[in-house]
Amino acid sequence: MFLMTHAAAGMFLGALVPHPVAAFTAGVASHAILDMIPHEPEDDLILDYPGSPGSSNKSVRRRVIVSSFDLAFAVLLVFLSWFFSLKGQNQSGLFIGMISGIAGGLLPDCIIVLTFFMNNRFLRWYFDLHNKIHFVISRSSVPRTVSVAYQFGLVGLFVFSTYYFIT
Ligand SMILES: [Zn+2]
Repeated sequence: MFLMTHAAAGMFLGALVPHPVAAFTAGVASHAILDMIPHEPEDDLILDYPGSPGSSNKSVRRRVIVSSFDLAFAVLLVFLSWFFSLKGQNQSGLFIGMISGIAGGLLPDCIIVLTFFMNNRFLRWYFDLHNKIHFVISRSSVPRTVSVAYQFGLVGLFVFSTYYFIT
């Protein structure tokens, strides 16, 4: 799933519960829930540990390009949180809550990024766990257009809801 989708969910939860620890925890939980709902096109699933014999890097180039834009959008949501927080009461508490939610939403995938550079027991266990979560409900993937539309829709929904809730 795009980082920006997880970040947007975290931002919304942070606005709902503007306490750093609660928002961070809610962000991590939302990551797991969003990952459970089938959303990934077949070629975007990383089924084998990066660098292992079964892994393919045919789409690595595309993934790096997409991820750069994706990360830029996620960072944009941090600025948006700051902008939104100005409209609420308890501005700094709200901003800290939202960025804690964003951090919690992004953390599970940041650990996955480490698997591209490192290989140890913890990371292999975590990699399998993160993959299994994607397949809890269904093993199916979705067409790329559906995946992109669904995720942009979610981002819009979370951003709108955050704004609506604060103002
Ligand atoms: Zn994930």
